[in-house]
Amino acid sequence: MAAKLIDGKAISAKVKEEVRDEIKQGNLKIGLAVIIVGDDGASRIYVNNKKKACEFCGINSFEYALPEHTSEAELISLIDKLNNDAAVNGILVQQPLPKHINQSVVNAAISPNKDVDAFHSENVGHIVGGDFKFLPCTPAGVMRMLEAENIDVCGKECVVIGRSDIVGKPMALLLLHKHATVMICHSRTKNLAEVTARADVLVSAVGKVGLVTADMVKPGAVVIDVGMNRDEDGKLCGDVAFDEVKEVASLITPVPGGVGPMTIAMLMKNVLTAKKLEQK
Ligand code: NAD
Repeated sequence: MAAKLIDGKAISAKVKEEVRDEIKQGNLKIGLAVIIVGDDGASRIYVNNKKKACEFCGINSFEYALPEHTSEAELISLIDKLNNDAAVNGILVQQPLPKHINQSVVNAAISPNKDVDAFHSENVGHIVGGDFKFLPCTPAGVMRMLEAENIDVCGKECVVIGRSDIVGKPMALLLLHKHATVMICHSRTKNLAEVTARADVLVSAVGKVGLVTADMVKPGAVVIDVGMNRDEDGKLCGDVAFDEVKEVASLITPVPGGVGPMTIAMLMKNVLTAKKLEQK
């Protein structure tokens, strides 16, 4: 029997409605600043989607589109200004940055209380400790999807493919905080298929078309596809060979319409959290 689809669009719509209603009820004035450096086509699409989500939730969005040749010092100076701007509760610098700008320097420059991507080392520390202010958007979106499907990961074997600071590592930590037995795989993992075949919950965050095939998936597993790739026809797809894996899994996320919309919804939630932090 084919797996049930986890509908990221529907679950993310619910999250955004919750955020919108709380903002309305509290009559809150909230702002998100999004900085984009250079002219990356994919980044532009993400930034536009974030803008639309802000409009829906009643969050003011301030966009700063800087030219590719912007220096690191110029970018930091803008971040400083936004750190001190009362109309701005959250600051997001769209990745990837041009090569001459150091991502770690940028992450450290954003005030931890406005760090809605949760990349500042202070917030990363909170995530490790489990006492977070901000949850990392994509992993938090995955956790929310699992919750929406009543999947309790406690004691389950969860395998995360990918160990990036943005997705893989925080994903593993959030699962661990929910008492899962977690394994992280990466490009140097030997016998990837043997490890993934143990997973009750398999999360792939790699960026490789067709990486996860049916033989790598335990029958009845929950498969979450974080990957965002283009196939040979230029169509958006994930890491998972969807057509074959859906015949083995019990639940599966599609791409598009899976984790992607969740990431944006959880960002909206983080902007609201930033406002609440300011009010405290
Ligand atoms: P990254 O390039 O920083 O990390 C990729 C990870 O995959 C690395 O840890 C690497 O070790 C591992 N890897 C590479 N080849 C592998 C292989 N053959 N076997 C096992 N592991 C391998 O990427 P990232 O920023 O973590 O993003 C991963 C994917 O998720 C990308 O497709 C990205 O576009 C997507 N993404 C989606 C969302 C969303 O909202 N849906 C958000 C962030 C990232």
